[in-house]
Formats: sequence, C-alpha cells, structure tokens
Amino acid sequence: MCATCGCGDTTDHGHAHASDHDHEHGHAHHHAHDDLPHVHARQTSRTVKLEQDVLAKNAGVAERNRARLDAEAIVAWNLMSSPGAGKTTLLERTVRDLRSRLPIGVIEGDQATFRDAERMRAAGCPVVQINTGSGCHLDATMVADALQQLAPPARSLVIIENVGNLVCPALFDLGERRRAVLVSVTEGDDKPLKYPHMFRASDLMILTKIDLLPHVQFDVARCREYAWRVNPDLEILELSATRGDGLDAWYSRLRAAVTA
Ligand code: MG
Repeated sequence: MCATCGCGDTTDHGHAHASDHDHEHGHAHHHAHDDLPHVHARQTSRTVKLEQDVLAKNAGVAERNRARLDAEAIVAWNLMSSPGAGKTTLLERTVRDLRSRLPIGVIEGDQATFRDAERMRAAGCPVVQINTGSGCHLDATMVADALQQLAPPARSLVIIENVGNLVCPALFDLGERRRAVLVSVTEGDDKPLKYPHMFRASDLMILTKIDLLPHVQFDVARCREYAWRVNPDLEILELSATRGDGLDAWYSRLRAAVTA
C-alpha cells in the first residue's frame, strides 16, 4: 500500500484502497508565501499507520538484501526516473560497453511486459523481469525474489531498473548501495523542485539525452541549481547514451563502486 498515491501493494491487496476515501476529501488552503491555492489530501491515522507498517516491513527486507549483497561484494544500483527518461537505453549501452570488464546482472521492473528484459538479454546480460501489475514501484521483497533467480556472482554489479515513477520508488529501500535518478532534457528542468523526495533520496542525478539540447527548452544550469537546492550532496552527470557523451564518467562510478 502506498499512501502517497493510493496505489495498490501487490503483496497485500487488502490495503490497496485504504486511502481512497481520503483522496476524495482534499482541502484547499493558501500558503503564506504565495497566492496560489494548494490542495492537500488529508490522511487518516489509519492510512498513516498502514504506510508505516508497510515501510517498516520493507526496510527489514531491504537490510537483509543489503547484507546478502555486501557479503559477496556485489554492488546494487537502483535506477529511477519518470517513464521515458532513458533508463533502459542507458542500461543497454552500459551492458554492451562494460560486460567484458565487469560482470553485470539486471533486474527490470515494469507494470507489464517482458520488453525491457528482452532488450537486456539482447545486450548480453543475465536479467530477471519483475511485473508489478497495478503497483507503481518495486519493493524489497520483489528484489529479494529476483536476486534469488538472478544469482549474481561475487564482486559483480547488479542494476535494478525501477518502475517509471518519480514518487513512490523514493520511499522503498530495495537494499541497493547506490541510487540514481535520471532526468531527460525532454522533461521540465524543474523536476527536482516538483519531486524533491526523489532527489533527496538519490546519490546521483543523471541528465540524459543531452544530444537533444539544441532542440529543446531545457536549462541545464537551472536544473542543477534546483537539484542542489533540494539535495546539496547530489552528484550530477550529463550524458547521451545514443551519442556516447559522458559515459566514461558513469562507467567509472560503476566500476569504482565494485572495486572499492
Ligand atoms: Mg524501461
């Protein structure tokens, strides 16, 4: 259960609609610092309690995932973004360029289809696809099951492509060691301000599709400023997975994490 958006927890459908009632009774008020009306969904204590229980249970499983991965010096990354920011394209290129130097396994998260898993397999790496059905994020239990199937070797890299969504994946620790959020230059450069939880929860922001900058209204400096406003420690990379710009910096981070 995810109280933030009211999405269903695929492992416990009994909680899926607990917050629907509250969503229908949002209330409007004015913020002191501007004149725009804001509508906030009111949460009952029951909804908050359910969310706390779900997140606490998830945190426990995530810690077990992390301990298992750490024991074999396996480094897991969690890649998050809105749909269409280029996660799969970056992963395809990464696998093709790095697989001879570094063992890589991929866990794909999507609501439906095996399309991304097929792309990864074609790129030449072991892959497990998770379909979340109505769920809009991966959770630690799904990743524990996927790790069981993937069986990554010691001192390898596991990259988890989360479901395309800038909201709920920020709440769910999967047991990863690094979190990256992708923003493509075809999106708004104010994404960090609109989805601050995601940018606060990430170690790295990757600006993708920078080959398209001449054709879009995206202010890179402004996006960087907004990102650092919400998370001053956020590392930022700019790259184009199709043209190749900036990939060396990305690869050196991936390799350094595994050999550290
Ligand atoms: Mg994808």
